[in-house]
Amino acid sequence: MKIPFTDLNAQYAALEEDLQKAMARVIADKAFIRGPYTEKFETEFAEYCGARHCVGVGNGTDAIYLALKAMEIGPGDEVLVPAMTFVATSEAVTMSGATPVFVDVDPASYTMNPAEAEKKITPKTKAVIPVHLYGHPADMTAIRILADTHGLKIIQDAAQAHGAGIDGMPIAGYGDCQTYSFYPGKNLGAYGDAGAVVTNDDKLAGKVKMLANHGRTSKYDHKFEGINSRMDGLQGAILSVKLNHLKDWTGLRCRWAKLYSQALKGINQITPPAVRDGADHVYHLYVVMANNRDALQKHLSEHDIATGIHYPIALPFLEAYSRMQHVKTDFPVAAAMQEKALSLPMFPELEGKKILQVVDAIKDFYDA
Ligand SMILES: *Cc1c(COP(=O)(O)O)cnc(C)c1O
Repeated sequence: MKIPFTDLNAQYAALEEDLQKAMARVIADKAFIRGPYTEKFETEFAEYCGARHCVGVGNGTDAIYLALKAMEIGPGDEVLVPAMTFVATSEAVTMSGATPVFVDVDPASYTMNPAEAEKKITPKTKAVIPVHLYGHPADMTAIRILADTHGLKIIQDAAQAHGAGIDGMPIAGYGDCQTYSFYPGKNLGAYGDAGAVVTNDDKLAGKVKMLANHGRTSKYDHKFEGINSRMDGLQGAILSVKLNHLKDWTGLRCRWAKLYSQALKGINQITPPAVRDGADHVYHLYVVMANNRDALQKHLSEHDIATGIHYPIALPFLEAYSRMQHVKTDFPVAAAMQEKALSLPMFPELEGKKILQVVDAIKDFYDA
């Protein structure tokens, strides 16, 4: 039985009729760019996040960039970013004109290590971008204290963490804003690129909305220059349909994660993901640290089990950042992760028996 890494077909099959109807309505109304369907989703998603505002934008990378611009962070400023995340987090900082400063991650949660972050603060540091990596909320209590102490803005990169919480509360309470991606493979995925900035700050929301739409107030009245980064009506309508199912999907992801972690117990070559006390992990990815990772991945692939590596090169070691001349000992945790991280199949439509099949294949590999 072939086990894919993720399965967008199963989700589409279940929602086909609703999605087709929603798309047909947008096309009939020619509501292609922003418009009522995007606005409806913005209202619904803000409520889902427990926040006052959601501004739909073109993608999750722009969402971070727009938040930085709205905070007037740019050339000469430094922004703290975890060493292990998708490149978009630091790319958006560079796009704003500011300088990303990498911070090693915590060896248990793989999210930004607040103690390491503190060491990187200089008079130029203006903001911190914790990433809720793999769906696990970063240590926001410690990061909030750090930000308050040093007068930093907090942008939470929640691209992998739709619906994640801390101590039963939504993450919205912990920062100036949080940013989302609705890339098709994310926990809430559009049928193309889409993103959002979510915030309780009325002024920030208004500024982001204008920046994302050429800085305009009305059609040809531009208060400042912005960019073109608007959510399509089709994506808004699709996301509204899917949002109704997100809670159930997250519940299933958590169920599969629990089953994996139980079944993997006793394989001492594998470290299952840890969950910090009070953290509501939403398991965008189920990532283990595996000895002899590359050979294990090959073995699984030969047994028709698809896996991923998130991420094979930590940001400071990418060619894109060779100008910073970082070495592995600068970021020992991220450096170890890039050798060991392996993402096992994870999607709501997975089944218990498939998880046991994956775990059996892993046992097989280490027993051989
Ligand atoms: C996917 C992702 C982004 C970027 O989102 P796009 O919509 O692809 O631009 C940013 N940060 C993280 C952590 C992501 O996983």
